[in-house]
Amino acid sequence: MARWGCDRCGFVAWTSDRTSMREVTGAHLLAHHSEAVTRSDFRTTWDCPYCATAKTAYDTDGAVAEFKTHLHEHVADLIEEGAHVGDRVSWDGTVQVAAPVNSADADALRAHFHAGGDLVIAVTANPERTVRLLHEELDAWPRRTVVVSTEAYPFETAPDLDFSEIPIEVVELDPRLGPDEVGETVSRIIDANRVAGDAISLEVSVFHEIVRSFDLRTACDFVRMLSARLDGEGGVLQLYVDADADPNVSTVLNFLDDEIDLKIAAEDGRFVRRG
Ligand SMILES: [Zn+2]
Ligand SMILES: [Zn+2]
Repeated sequence: MARWGCDRCGFVAWTSDRTSMREVTGAHLLAHHSEAVTRSDFRTTWDCPYCATAKTAYDTDGAVAEFKTHLHEHVADLIEEGAHVGDRVSWDGTVQVAAPVNSADADALRAHFHAGGDLVIAVTANPERTVRLLHEELDAWPRRTVVVSTEAYPFETAPDLDFSEIPIEVVELDPRLGPDEVGETVSRIIDANRVAGDAISLEVSVFHEIVRSFDLRTACDFVRMLSARLDGEGGVLQLYVDADADPNVSTVLNFLDDEIDLKIAAEDGRFVRRG
C-alpha cells in the first residue's frame, strides 16, 4: 500500500496505491488551509501557503480541485510505497481496529494484517467467515493459520474448501471457557506453531463477548497478557471492536489506552489512523 502522514497533525492514511492517495492528501491539506481559498468579485481565488502560486477563476469547484492537486504535488515525494499498517508499530504492538466486527471494513483490515503475517491466529465467533476471507482475499495462504472459536467450522455445509490442501487448523473451544483459558490456548498455539522469524498476526474478534460476560479487570488482563505474550515474538495483536456500539467496550478500551499503540479505521477502501 501507499502511505502518507501529515506533518502538521497525527493524520496517517494508507491507500491501495499512490494514485488513490491524491484524493486524501489534497482534501486533508485543504482542511488545514481553508483560509487560502477566498471568493470575492464573483470569482474564487486560491493562494498557496507553501509557494507563490495563486489562481483566480469563475468556476469554484474547478478552482478547489486544482488547488487540491497543487497541494498534493507539495507532498507527493513524501508518499511511501510498499507500506504495511503493521510497520507503524514495527510488527510488535497492539492495534485497535475501530469497525463493526462483522463488517466489510473490519474484513479489509483482517485481510491486510493476515496477508502480512506468517503465523496467523484468529480468535473469532465466526470461523467460516475468517477462512473464506483468507481464501478469497489473500494471494497465498500464510505459512500457518490457526482459527480458534467456540463455534464449530461447518464442514458439512461448506465442503468446497479442501482443508487437506491448505496449512490451516481449526481449534474448537468449549464455550464455557473464560478469557484466561482462551489466552492460554493462544499462547500454546504460538509455542507449537511459531518458527524463528515469523511475523504473528493475532486477531481477536470476540472482545465484545468477553466484555459482556466478564468483569472489567478480566477483560483488561486478557489484552495485557496477550500483548505481553507477543512482546519480543514479533507480532501484531488486533482488537476488532466497535466502541460506538457498546459503551461498556468503550469504557474497557479507556482503561487499555496505554496498551494500545495504534487505532485504525477503514474508510472508502483506505485505512486511516484514529489515534
Ligand atoms: Zn494534518
Ligand atoms: Zn504551492
